[in-house]
Amino acid sequence: MSSNVVVAKFGGTSVADFEAMLRCAQIVHDDKNVRVVAVSASAGVTNHLVSLTQAEHTEAERQHLVDAVIAIQDNILNQVKLDTDLAEGFEATLSEFKALSLEKSLSKAQRDEMLSFGERLSSFLFTQVLRQVGIDAIRFDVREVLKTDSNFAKATPDIKATKVASIEKLVPLLSEHVVVTQGFIGQDPVGQTTTLGRGGSDYSAALLAEAVDASSVHIWTDVVGIFSTDPRLCVKATPIPRLSFDEAAEMATFGAKVLHPATILPASRSGISVFVGSSREPHAGGTWIEKEKRSEPGIRAVTQRKNQILLTLKSPEMLLASGFLARIFAILSSYNISVDLVTTSEISVALTLDNAPNASRPELEQACLDELSQFCHVTVENNLTLVALIGSEIQLRHDDSNLMRVLSDFNIRLICHGASKHNLCFLVEQSDSDKVVQAIHQHLLESV
Ligand code: ADP
Ligand code: ASP
Ligand code: MG
Repeated sequence: MSSNVVVAKFGGTSVADFEAMLRCAQIVHDDKNVRVVAVSASAGVTNHLVSLTQAEHTEAERQHLVDAVIAIQDNILNQVKLDTDLAEGFEATLSEFKALSLEKSLSKAQRDEMLSFGERLSSFLFTQVLRQVGIDAIRFDVREVLKTDSNFAKATPDIKATKVASIEKLVPLLSEHVVVTQGFIGQDPVGQTTTLGRGGSDYSAALLAEAVDASSVHIWTDVVGIFSTDPRLCVKATPIPRLSFDEAAEMATFGAKVLHPATILPASRSGISVFVGSSREPHAGGTWIEKEKRSEPGIRAVTQRKNQILLTLKSPEMLLASGFLARIFAILSSYNISVDLVTTSEISVALTLDNAPNASRPELEQACLDELSQFCHVTVENNLTLVALIGSEIQLRHDDSNLMRVLSDFNIRLICHGASKHNLCFLVEQSDSDKVVQAIHQHLLESV
């Protein structure tokens, strides 16, 4: 790290309307080190766009979704007058959106193009709001620098290409301007628009920070940091002032929606500190995630990830044979499926996958199940939640009666512990999961 540059990211609720954008503009105004701003789509827009990519809607429903997206932009435009340079780009982008919305059946590439409009539109509006508070802001199309592969809906960034393009095209702008760009989207080697997966703007901000050699990333959202659990679920959840990269990565991976799971990767790789705070209360503090931070042993947070699929694969022929797991994972990897938890026995393996509603693509395709069924018996269970205890040096000890007592009240479907000292994970029925998290929080985190 060699500069003081800060990359700020404003999430969907932070750019939901004019008043919210104005609060964010003040944050940028007050911190002269913020030179790059990555914005999300205004709240609600990406969900509408995901719906628009689904073929089953009638024409009237599609029109309704298009109108809803436009209404969110118009609501902001009522209070912001775009300068000519921004107005031209905004209108052109809106026309592209309307034209694509007329297509009934979209290719994978077109679906990502559709999902990109939220960030592309909000970034014009936010640039203007920054100008309104006296900042010399310009809008920059992130696709010029954020290069990815062509794995639509969950593209993998090309770190090297992103760095080279950023040094050439983005860094020279930063001495004169605050550059407003888009989270979530990128571009593949043949110039097609890609997206990084739902919630991916946090990841974009960290990637951009790495590419421009920034000192930190500030993730501005609707909560004053990362809490001991989702504050919407437990009123007694408390913000955690400091987290190590490992702990933060585990929290994000296991469901703390406040941070996209991949965000910590570039940050920890390049030693960039990450701050998470509320754009509503910028002076209320937040969470700092930093490198060299050693944490006290113990449980610091509990997270949950709903809509999990448990896939159990069984093959008696595999008794004492080798290669069963390799075969399974080769197939899963060919469908680009990421597995979270795994437990195995001699002839079977159980693993969990995400099945989030509103995901930009289904995680488990029938074709994948068919391939697996060719050599093993496959069972799929739905409506499960992955609950994770996160912390440092977590150990399941026989003398940890508190933890054992809390867990014994619930039906635990699968448990995973040992691969990392930072977590202890288990699956519960989705209908139980809020209660499980609340009980764990009450018994293990509120007393400490
Ligand atoms: P943004 O649109 O700014 O990216 P998100 O909705 O993606 O915001 O993430 C913020 C939300 O994450 C909060 O409103 C909160 O309900 C949820 N959340 C889940 N777990 C946690 C946690 N451990 N700490 C803080 N927020 C959490
Ligand atoms: N707009 C995208 C989403 O809603 C990305 C983001 O907000 O991080 O998933
Ligand atoms: Mg988010």
